[in-house]
Amino acid sequence: MISVAIDGPSGSGKSTISKLLAKKLGFLTLDTGALYRAVAYYFLKNNIDYKTNEEVIKNLKNIDISVCHDKNVQLIYLNGEDITNFIRTPEVSSAASNISAIPEVREFLINIQRDFAKTHNVIMDGRDIGTIILPNANVKFFLTASPENRAKRRYNQLIKKNPNEKIKLEDIINSMNNRDFNDSNRKISPLTPAKDAIIIDNSSLSLKETVDAFLSAIKERATIETK
Ligand code: C5P
Repeated sequence: MISVAIDGPSGSGKSTISKLLAKKLGFLTLDTGALYRAVAYYFLKNNIDYKTNEEVIKNLKNIDISVCHDKNVQLIYLNGEDITNFIRTPEVSSAASNISAIPEVREFLINIQRDFAKTHNVIMDGRDIGTIILPNANVKFFLTASPENRAKRRYNQLIKKNPNEKIKLEDIINSMNNRDFNDSNRKISPLTPAKDAIIIDNSSLSLKETVDAFLSAIKERATIETK
């Protein structure tokens, strides 16, 4: 099996790039942020205090998460219910960032990620894929962009999804900064490039240029035919 790891901060475009690469290469994607979001969603939905580590750890036994793909679209199930469309809210983003700093939560999600890579050719994106989850990935990337670029992209995505909602760019910048700070400074699995990762800053690259940069690096490091 071939695995490509893409790590990077929020809004750097990891999932858009992953989907395009997966299509070109005939691979599946695994957006691992969705797993942390699913855990966070459980606590929000059931009104359980996710800010107390003991409470989170105690409840992990009640959580069953699974992933499946329908026509290459990743669907995520929480205790048998498809929650794919409920996990992209700002509340879930912020709660996911909180619970992801708890070692037991990270441990809880390790096997689902590693097992996926054992059974599929995968483009896996997240924060610790190249460093912790798949240290032997065939190709590793760290995708980044300036905070302004990332916030604007997230803003445009949210406006496109919810045209009637009042969304402020300033709020996006603040919540993105908070999440980046938490993700980069937590004790366990902080967001950091793997030593052997190819670093791509796409602040001034178009989507096509970014995809091309990934594809040429993948072709160089792994023998893969592209569609
Ligand atoms: O990538 P996404 O924004 O969906 O991730 C939501 C949160 O999940 C991140 O802010 C981060 O705290 C956490 N996460 C993580 N490790 C990963 C993927 C996501 O800690 N591999």
